[in-house]
Amino acid sequence: MNSSWLAELRRLLAIIAISGVIGWIMGYPLLLIVLGLFSLILIWLFQLWRIRTWLEHPDNPPPESYGIWGHIFDQIYSIQRKNREARTLLQSSVDYLEDSFASMHDGVVMVDNNGSIDWCNAAATSMFALQFPMDRGQPLLNLVRMPEFQTYFTAQDFDEPLTIEAPGEDLAILQIQITRFGDGNKLLFFRDVTRMVQMEQMRRDFVANVSHELRTPLTVIKGYLETIIANDRELDPRYKKPLQQMDQQAIRMENLLKDLLWLSRIESVRTVQKTVNVNIAAMLEEIRDELCESHPDTPININIEATQTILGDYRELHSAVSNLAQNAIRYNRDNNPVDISWTQEGGELLLSVQDHGIGIDSIHLPRLTERFYRVDESRSTQTGGTGLGLAIVKHVAVSHRADLRIDTRLGSGSRFTLAFPLQAADI
Ligand code: ADP
Repeated sequence: MNSSWLAELRRLLAIIAISGVIGWIMGYPLLLIVLGLFSLILIWLFQLWRIRTWLEHPDNPPPESYGIWGHIFDQIYSIQRKNREARTLLQSSVDYLEDSFASMHDGVVMVDNNGSIDWCNAAATSMFALQFPMDRGQPLLNLVRMPEFQTYFTAQDFDEPLTIEAPGEDLAILQIQITRFGDGNKLLFFRDVTRMVQMEQMRRDFVANVSHELRTPLTVIKGYLETIIANDRELDPRYKKPLQQMDQQAIRMENLLKDLLWLSRIESVRTVQKTVNVNIAAMLEEIRDELCESHPDTPININIEATQTILGDYRELHSAVSNLAQNAIRYNRDNNPVDISWTQEGGELLLSVQDHGIGIDSIHLPRLTERFYRVDESRSTQTGGTGLGLAIVKHVAVSHRADLRIDTRLGSGSRFTLAFPLQAADI
């Protein structure tokens, strides 16, 4: 490159020198130098014109040239070639991605920051009767008109997926997951979860039916046991203890069936139906009275600072707090007091149940709310728990859009908090 610059410079000097000498011989040195420079400018302009004409048809090979102009042509050509290669590579990556999305069974739709369709795959077009590429640029909400989807999409809160019935007659159930990317663009995945939902429903129905069917024989067995134990004077003393144990186990089984039925019942109720204002303060007083009667040895303190009521289901919230309070008593030590509070902190309303009991090792926390998960099997069985309490609490929290937080230290006690967003409250 430097050598071509030097050659161009030499050419310039040579023109000035030659035209100067000829001009000096003719008696007009300045005029001839100007004429020489002018002809050089003409040559440069001609080369610029060739560049422009070539760039208008960049697929043509570059024009032949020499010196600095040859270099410029070659460099533009090499930049063009690299750009073309990069574009081909990019296009093949885009094609690859589009092909893989297109072959998916799940519907995929990309929308821009105005909510208009950018791209969608074949599965999405058949799910929502879209026409692609004709519908490119159309607002998605004009074409996918399901009210639940419209509310979900407009609310812009995509932390949890949305499950809805698909349009059409085949009663399919879709799960919609939205992720943001780029400058406000969104990627929407529509998954057919009909089979999963049906299986889940079958499981729930099975548990509910089995629990229901077991109740009647159990009631009969319990009835006979109670009658026999009540008339223990006529009873052979050898049978007294076994019969009492049978009675205890029957009570345990009854509690287990009650919890199983309750859990499958609250699982089948949908979040949107929770529209009753629950007076939490009054509910806590009621729970305290119930617990004082059943566990007179444990002091229950109630601290109510918040005045808000919660939009929700009274029985569900009552059962969640009762379960937490019963656990607090069950895993307590030395009849320490149990503190229940209803407070507001920042943008949240907190319903906490705190004990000063045995606490929980943090390794158990990720699985604690699973059905039948127990930290200490022998202790839980002794204390009469069913293993479903925290599963019920977790479910009630989720269906009320509350967060279940567990702060605990082994040997010092635990605090279970249901944190409701202020929007859940009726202020
Ligand atoms: P359970 O009926 O066995 O109490 P839960 O679902 O209510 O079942 O609780 C699950 C497990 O979590 C319990 O077995 C117990 O080990 C532990 N746990 C629950 N609450 C407390 C608490 N307040 N203090 C210590 N451990 C607790």
